[in-house]
Amino acid sequence: MPEPDTIAPHGGTLVDLLSTDADTLAQQAEHLPKIVVNARELSDLEMLTVGALSPLTGFVGERDYHAILDSMHLASGPAWTIPVTLSLDEVEVKRIGGAEAVALLPAEAGAPLAVLEVAEIYKRDRQKEALGVFGTEDLEHPGVAALQEAGDYCLAGEVRAIRLPEHDDFLPYRLTPAQTRAEFRRRGWDTVVGFQTRNPIHRAHEYIQKCALEIVDGLLVHPLVGATKGDDVPSDVRMRCYEALFEGYYPKDRAMVSVFPAAMRYAGPKEAIWHAIARKNYGCTHFIVGRDHAGVGSYYGTYDAQKLFEEFEPGELGISPLMFEHSFWCNRCEGMASPKTCPHSEDDRVSLSGTKVREMLRAGERPPVEFSRPEVADILIEAMRASGD
Ligand SMILES: [Zn+2]
Repeated sequence: MPEPDTIAPHGGTLVDLLSTDADTLAQQAEHLPKIVVNARELSDLEMLTVGALSPLTGFVGERDYHAILDSMHLASGPAWTIPVTLSLDEVEVKRIGGAEAVALLPAEAGAPLAVLEVAEIYKRDRQKEALGVFGTEDLEHPGVAALQEAGDYCLAGEVRAIRLPEHDDFLPYRLTPAQTRAEFRRRGWDTVVGFQTRNPIHRAHEYIQKCALEIVDGLLVHPLVGATKGDDVPSDVRMRCYEALFEGYYPKDRAMVSVFPAAMRYAGPKEAIWHAIARKNYGCTHFIVGRDHAGVGSYYGTYDAQKLFEEFEPGELGISPLMFEHSFWCNRCEGMASPKTCPHSEDDRVSLSGTKVREMLRAGERPPVEFSRPEVADILIEAMRASGD
């Protein structure tokens, strides 16, 4: 008997949209109206194709769009917090006309990646979507700004993929949900905790991951490598940091790194739920939710993301959230700790603001070893030097 999977995918079945007859589909796509997708939609298309967004089998229709915004569920029932949409502007709507299917392209000159069977074209409700996903209409919010620039219409329908988008980076780390699930089985892990990140990992996050690992079989560090805002640390630099950290400080048989092809939306609590559901599809049974998960600026309260998990019925999400406080090195405890475990004062704790850390790194100075592993600090110092930041 083969080993069972760690956890069932969201909705019960792991979606796989890759066509078994890609050549025929590619020929068909040649004769269809063509739609060029933007960077965020390209990430979504890849996630849909590999089943990271199971049970979705395409870009959502109007009924789901409103059900998600009104009730954080798909019309068919499963929990879901972010509408996965494909935008069209007025010109594109006219160009498509009454076509039954369109070809999706990664760029003007690119070959089609997928065929979308047109189910409907509907008008997006920008205000409702901004408030429902981001909780704000402020155009300074990067997600709201992106929404403002998106077309007025959404194109919905099932997707059949010809191939996955091409990548030239992180190739050994690009595991699909089927592949992470197979890897967990191979390693004999029954329980796995997933860690979402779009930052270099310092000691605080290493500590949280290791606390979580104490109660499960394995750890999946799952950095997001789709589009992020310009001032986030580039994903190739982050990956070098993860590699150095894994080399020096993580048990190889208990921890692995793979990449998450999603683009950041900065939707805070709604994105935290969405990240958890996607990690369940990758086979994670547990998911770390830190402070201000997927937040940006001061749009969300520190614990808003953690609290939103409690609004779902037990078992509805399937994956178990593990909530963590911020952590630090305490000189009196002589170890990593959090406000939950350390009774001492700020004076005993090694805490540095993000601004202070960037300042030190820019000056070529390693933060204290209690804050950053020296190997990680050196990579960040070198990257800042190279970029002239
Ligand atoms: Zn202490």
